[in-house]
Amino acid sequence: MSRYECSAKKAKYGADSTAKKIDSSESWREKRKQYLTEKAKDVEFPTASEAKLEPKFMYDNETFVIHICFKCRQANRKMEAVDIDEEHQKLELVLCKICRSNYNIQRRSKFFNHELLLFKMSMEG
Ligand SMILES: [Zn+2]
Repeated sequence: MSRYECSAKKAKYGADSTAKKIDSSESWREKRKQYLTEKAKDVEFPTASEAKLEPKFMYDNETFVIHICFKCRQANRKMEAVDIDEEHQKLELVLCKICRSNYNIQRRSKFFNHELLLFKMSMEG
């Protein structure tokens, strides 16, 4: 197909394919909403102890990866970075129970499903 034929086809069918994209996008959203609604029935909100943060365990690695929900992101955008000295700044982090609990789950999962397995493999290998 030449470049001209391709762009002519786009012009001819452009409106139809745009309408189909919107329809399939809306049905995808609706299906995803139905799927999430069904899955949400089986999950429970985290308890206070599941969401308890312990800084002595939070900074064991050189990377700090945390998933933050929209409300927490909004809250953190309002926080200020405070100068401690010429080298350091202090950031406060506002996290809801779900974000805190998920962070703890991530940290434990990394330990049990990655670090421990790698350790075991190195012992056996
Ligand atoms: Zn949150």
